[in-house]
Amino acid sequence: MKTRTIAILGATGSIGTQALDIVRRYPEAFKADCLTACGSAEKLFELCRAFRPGVAALVKEPEEIPEDLRSIQWFFGPDSTVRALVASKCQDALCAIVGIAGLDAVWHALDVCERVLLANKEALVTGGDLVMAKAAATGKPLLPVDSEHSAIFQCLQARQGNPVKKLLLTCSGGALRNWKKEDIYHATVRDVLAHPTWNMGGKITVDCASMVNKGLEVIEAHHLFDMPAERIEVVVHPQSVIHSMVEFEDGAVLAQLGMPDMRGPIGYAMGFPHRLPYEAKPLDFAALGHLDFAAPDHDRFPCLGMAIEALKAGGSAPVVLNGANEVAVGAFLREQIPFGRIPEIIRSALDSVPVRAISSISDVYEADRRARECAEKQLGMRNEK
Ligand code: NDP
Ligand code: MG
Repeated sequence: MKTRTIAILGATGSIGTQALDIVRRYPEAFKADCLTACGSAEKLFELCRAFRPGVAALVKEPEEIPEDLRSIQWFFGPDSTVRALVASKCQDALCAIVGIAGLDAVWHALDVCERVLLANKEALVTGGDLVMAKAAATGKPLLPVDSEHSAIFQCLQARQGNPVKKLLLTCSGGALRNWKKEDIYHATVRDVLAHPTWNMGGKITVDCASMVNKGLEVIEAHHLFDMPAERIEVVVHPQSVIHSMVEFEDGAVLAQLGMPDMRGPIGYAMGFPHRLPYEAKPLDFAALGHLDFAAPDHDRFPCLGMAIEALKAGGSAPVVLNGANEVAVGAFLREQIPFGRIPEIIRSALDSVPVRAISSISDVYEADRRARECAEKQLGMRNEK
């Protein structure tokens, strides 16, 4: 394999650091030449010492850049990620920023890179039609990193031009899977962050517990695989061993399996079409004994249904769902609201922000602004806790 240069956008996060584990393992295959973060300056400095990128960026400008890192070309400020990416001229960009904050990077990566490796699902939830149209127009591959979408993408390699009947997205059920409805409302940050199978960043772990994550992933799958909501099914599968499945017209179902370790899907996207040998823990079927499946419980976890409803409503509705969720999750993680307020805040934003058509990225940001305004108003309106 020839060395490819890769920009790791969101290098200090859960996905970013695991991608860098792969770079460390395959120094002849990858050169991480652009590393970016938001405010974790010390963590980024450590990564820069280890990987010596040509370019780096921090949204929040630190007091000073350590002496030994001054030969790196640094960028600071709100648009620093994109400016660093453009300056780096990297062949690939791994978009691993959390939230709609990653949309701009995905958008520009499609202009300046040869391939975009997409972990940031919120970019497709909010700007999906525009991003997919741009990927099609530029002919650039948009390789999924989210484990379910990577699994579907892998299963689709066996498609041979045949139509797909249905996509089946598996779902661990999150930390509160077995909790009673009344207990879920008052789950603490500690309860929610104890994810049973995956080790991830804070926001997505909360999203898993509310199951909005699976809703965001239905929207992501809709865009990536051009599949209507009606043909995307969610299956609760607590062991997280089957990462997702594709059903064909003859009833055959193809699944991709593996231990729950994000280095699998990250490495698959980085190496595509080559599979990088990685010493992942192998599946031991005899030790597993059984795999369990269940239908999602929409009564205890209403966020999944709201996301599907937003997808069907179209236009700005998914942007509003996402924006309200980002505000609510932030407030929950700061312990300003109980967990049960998250679905209430999303519901209210969907009900009160009118659906508008989305025809440009600025339309996306305008809908996001309205959603946040609505959600923040609710946070201020009530004396929480
Ligand atoms: P983390 O919170 O662990 O990391 C987020 C990264 O984004 C950090 O490097 C952070 O920098 C950076 N960042 C945050 N806000 C901004 C901003 N405004 N501008 C620029 N950079 C910013 O998130 P994860 O790694 O868990 O998730 C990243 C994305 O991947 C999410 O969209 C998530 O849904 C998706 N994903 C994650 C999975 C996982 O296993 N973690 C699995 C599947 C999908 P800093 O550290 O300085 O704040
Ligand atoms: Mg996922």
